[in-house]
Amino acid sequence: MFNLVKGTHDVILKDARKYSYIEVVLERAAELYGYKEFRTPIIETSELFLRSVGNSSDIVRKEMYTFDDKGGRSITLRPEITAGTIRSMVANKLFAMQDYPVKGYYCGPCFRYERPQQGRYRQFNQFGVECAGVIRSERDAEVISMGYNSLMMLGFKNLELKINTLGDEETRANYRAALKDYFAKYIDTMCDDCKERFKLNILRILDCKVENDRKIIDGAPKISDYLTEKAKADFDTILKNLDKLGIKYTIDPELVRGLDYYSGVVFEFHYTSSAGKNYGAIGAGGHYNNLVHEIGGPEIEGCGYAMGIERLASVMEDDNLFAEADIDQFLDVYIMPLGERAISESLSIANLIRMSGYTCDICLENKGMGQMFKKGERRDALYALIVGDNELDSHKFVLKNMLSQEQIEVNEDELIDKLDSLFAEDDDDDCCCGHDHHDGECCCEHEHHEEGCSCHEHQHDENCSCHEENDSECHCGWHNKE
Ligand code: AMP
Repeated sequence: MFNLVKGTHDVILKDARKYSYIEVVLERAAELYGYKEFRTPIIETSELFLRSVGNSSDIVRKEMYTFDDKGGRSITLRPEITAGTIRSMVANKLFAMQDYPVKGYYCGPCFRYERPQQGRYRQFNQFGVECAGVIRSERDAEVISMGYNSLMMLGFKNLELKINTLGDEETRANYRAALKDYFAKYIDTMCDDCKERFKLNILRILDCKVENDRKIIDGAPKISDYLTEKAKADFDTILKNLDKLGIKYTIDPELVRGLDYYSGVVFEFHYTSSAGKNYGAIGAGGHYNNLVHEIGGPEIEGCGYAMGIERLASVMEDDNLFAEADIDQFLDVYIMPLGERAISESLSIANLIRMSGYTCDICLENKGMGQMFKKGERRDALYALIVGDNELDSHKFVLKNMLSQEQIEVNEDELIDKLDSLFAEDDDDDCCCGHDHHDGECCCEHEHHEEGCSCHEHQHDENCSCHEENDSECHCGWHNKE
């Protein structure tokens, strides 16, 4: 027996289905906004993260998995995916055409040497988007609303957007000076991390969670008093557009985020269940002025966000949000061969069933009927196909509904037609896709896409992924249209 590496966890069986479900919904949402997928290496040069995430961040100071490879190069397991995504945009000359913005989404494992605790791992998965080449604040508002709507599509209803601005260079220079004056009086009494932050990046002190420090931080100057006219106007434009999109927000003057590359707007999506349980932040992001240039690209700005898949999955599990998702995996047909000849013939029958689009497994262990039924039940089989010598000689099989126990005889050459008609009865009458769910996983591209509706449902009922009855909080465009 080998133990898991501390801070890691296996994601298997139904949990893996839940992760895939979340990823598919988030990817689908990003594609609705014209984003394309980026898959970048898990290992990057350490320098990339020093330049981007920044040497005053906790991530770079304490949490990176960094090592020298056999060629003596300093390599780091990525602690986040923004830097790698922007690096790949630069390396692949995606900015060369100046056709801005370049929009990318990503999903994959990240590594941080953190103290493992509930919901915090040393290897975890992030989904995120980057929109590089932002020239107007409307674009920031669009990115924020996309994050908000993506979470709504997952079933998160009571979302609260916390938002702040870190302003432009001039704003931050003036604000840092004010913070220096203020914290100089208290820094000797504050935690060691804050002492370090005082020297490296004073804004980071606002993020401190130590109770004693919080009291001091509460009295600190607020960035809103130091915004330049331009920074104020940009922030106002974002807020106005969020208003127009019906997205509720709270301005949080202490929100600074833990990565050094942010400038301009920063935000977090907070969630409270309908039962009133507050889960805190379930995703976060912000605008960056210099990141693309720091990484070797042109002087363009960008905006993005990241969401932890582990975090989303645990909140969705706790708040029963998977109830609406189609994550059960049934086995369409379980072949029960009676005897060696039937076992041997089963492989080609299974092949035909699988190539016709039905999931199928075979009991290859020469068991008795009772034991094979038990195995079929454990595999969540919907139908049992019983194949014995008589059936092979007569070219007629017995197909048994595992739930109702009803059974019928089917000619071998009509087997697939029979399965088609049995499964069609179970499906949504109007849908051509062969699935009984209509969500991000559905392969059907057309039938159930009602005009103006982004939720992929025929109609707005309890199946609709926006989960709204008929009010202004509906994000899918349907209710508002009504
Ligand atoms: P950040 O990149 O720090 O802004 O984090 C973005 C999201 O990633 C957070 O909202 C978390 O959901 C997730 N995340 C960050 N660190 C961890 C971790 N150690 N374990 C699990 N999820 C994490």
